[in-house]
Amino acid sequence: MSLTTAVRDIRSRQKIKFNPPDRPTAVWTGKDILDGKPIAALTVIFRTTGCRWNNCTMCGYVYDSSRRAPSHDELMKQFEHALLRCRDEEFIVKIFTSGSFLDDGEIPTATRIEMLSRLGADARVKKVIAETRPEYVTQEKVSECTAALGKRFEVAVGLETSNDMIRKDTINKGFSFADFVNASKIAEQENATVKAYLLLKPPFLSEGVAISDIIRSITDAAQYAGTISVNLCNVQKGTLVDEMFERGDYRPPWLWSAVEVLKRGKEANSGTVIMSDPVAAGSSRGPHNCGKCDKDVAEAIRIFSLTQDTMIFEGLNCDCREIWEKVVELERFAFGAVMVK
Ligand code: SF4
Ligand SMILES: [Zn+2]
Repeated sequence: MSLTTAVRDIRSRQKIKFNPPDRPTAVWTGKDILDGKPIAALTVIFRTTGCRWNNCTMCGYVYDSSRRAPSHDELMKQFEHALLRCRDEEFIVKIFTSGSFLDDGEIPTATRIEMLSRLGADARVKKVIAETRPEYVTQEKVSECTAALGKRFEVAVGLETSNDMIRKDTINKGFSFADFVNASKIAEQENATVKAYLLLKPPFLSEGVAISDIIRSITDAAQYAGTISVNLCNVQKGTLVDEMFERGDYRPPWLWSAVEVLKRGKEANSGTVIMSDPVAAGSSRGPHNCGKCDKDVAEAIRIFSLTQDTMIFEGLNCDCREIWEKVVELERFAFGAVMVK
């Protein structure tokens, strides 16, 4: 059975709830980094018809999408609702759609231009980052965005790994590293910067292989992206990863693994901003260590992301670090089978 068939089969068995088309899927405020300094960030996930690809093994975003395409007015209501949330004097805006902001099927061109023009006219907004799959990154689309916004625009791509085999055979992502490089070059020609998201520990990989994959990927992607964000895989409902987790065949990454890739990735690429938001850290469905040290290690990861200073990791320790080292050493002999929950 192909990964696409397996993912489709799981998707077909899920009950999809009603999601209001005039409310964003989620909005929250937090911190990010701009020109080496922390800045407030408004993150919005617009509700659209969802990702056209919709075949990735770890992705449960499809269940947040709207049954019908939200109209221009509904999308603008989502936009207004989101902007009300940020009261900071200056901030950056991070746009997601649980798919691709540059896909006209999710966000029509006129809507995209109106949103970016409004953000361009808002003096508080210092930069806009928008996530998209690389196939929607064309000169025409990016130049429309940069012209409407008139300030710093960043194209963010969920590259996941620089290894085409891992991206295809464990994530089922449906594009290649060359596609990402091409998108990055187009974005740069149009004066947009590039951010790459990587995924630490997709299914089927041992802890050690997952670590070395991301260390290598950081260096590969750093040639084409000024910022790299390492997503620590968490278990989302209605996904292949979820089915594997329920059977005991998948464990999210250790937080120690995240520390290792951030430290070694930064040491090898000091000019690149490298960050990670440890979503669901400490829970069994999120990245976790032993339970005692999760909070401190997750906090160190957050501080590192804002300061880029690897020294924050030096003071961390816990008895479980030795167990993690053993797992990294031994899991490769178990062909990725989970050794410690
Ligand atoms: S491309 Fe992104 S949104 Fe689409 S299925 Fe994959 S992870 Fe989910
Ligand atoms: Zn611990």
